[in-house]
Amino acid sequence: MLVKRIVRSCILLLVLCLCAGCGEQSDVKRSDIVLDTAVTLTARGEDAQAAIDESMARIRNIDNMVNPNVPDSDVSKLSQNAGTGKWVPLQPETYKMLAVAQDYARKTNGAFDVTTKPLVDLWGIGTDHAKVPTPAELSEAQKKVGWQKLELNEGTHSARLVQKGMGVDLGGIAKGFAVDEVRKIYARYGIKDGLINLGSSSMYALGVNQEGQPWRIGLRHPRKEDAQEKMAILPLENEALSTSGDYERFFEANGTRYHHILDPRTGWPAMSGAMSVTIVAADRVKDGGMLTDILTTAVFVLGPEQGARFLRGQDGIEGAITDGRYQLWTTGNMATDLLEVSPDFHFWQESGENL
Ligand code: AMP
Ligand code: MG
Repeated sequence: MLVKRIVRSCILLLVLCLCAGCGEQSDVKRSDIVLDTAVTLTARGEDAQAAIDESMARIRNIDNMVNPNVPDSDVSKLSQNAGTGKWVPLQPETYKMLAVAQDYARKTNGAFDVTTKPLVDLWGIGTDHAKVPTPAELSEAQKKVGWQKLELNEGTHSARLVQKGMGVDLGGIAKGFAVDEVRKIYARYGIKDGLINLGSSSMYALGVNQEGQPWRIGLRHPRKEDAQEKMAILPLENEALSTSGDYERFFEANGTRYHHILDPRTGWPAMSGAMSVTIVAADRVKDGGMLTDILTTAVFVLGPEQGARFLRGQDGIEGAITDGRYQLWTTGNMATDLLEVSPDFHFWQESGENL
């Protein structure tokens, strides 16, 4: 009798295991170049393929709103009408990005400023005409920069740039915005696990990886040429992450590194002491992808000390900042969350305590 019952239990267990095996789904993955970056979308679930296809189309659609090389994009229209006094009606997406950007321009005293475009164009970093501008060119470009000269009209979802020659550059925010949009599409398709990866600089790690573990995100070592060399590993589960670094786009002249994150207040690449900034937002943070994207750029400009102080005031947000002395400044639980930290780095300490 007992033997029979054991055999029956074993058969039941075997059937259950086989069923679980049948239900196991593998990750669907697709990569493409959109928003000027290598986008890789991974999703698991019955509708993974459909979710990924719709997400890619959505990112392309966002690109068409923010791309200055697309003549009828929102940002092109803003530049074309700069200084004319005309209000430019915008897509809700562009309006939202600009409204949040202005909020953070105010909060960071202009460290984050989407009107930096004339300076971005002048430096040309990441293009084949990158150069150190003359002081005259710099002061001319700087006159056309200033977040207070970008006006928004909430009632009509329109905006205008008050001075001729002005422009907006959404390169420090659009990828994060796109991450949030893909996240919403995944939710609509019932995707519980996946990785939304825009050029490794803006990501969302949904649920768990194929092994049932948190996604392991490698943070790039800011001073190794090989992009595979890591500064640390960060396990993520239902969190958004962005990274900004001076290694992403730069050129060197006379022993100085000129990179793509500009300090709108000086007109020069930010020389705040930071080499890289990584920020994570908990799932409860609204627009977490967009916020982490904004914050990495802003904190890079503010520098490790001011930047870390700023981050500590943000709910659900934690960050890691590396400085030129290979010190790692952390906020929230980041110091304990980071794994396999490269021995090149040591945690910044004040009175024996981590930040
Ligand atoms: P990220 O790589 O997210 O830090 O964004 C950098 C990109 O944002 C640059 O390539 C520029 O297009 C733009 N950008 C540069 N400096 C700033 C700034 N201070 N505020 C806002 N956007 C910026
Ligand atoms: Mg950014």
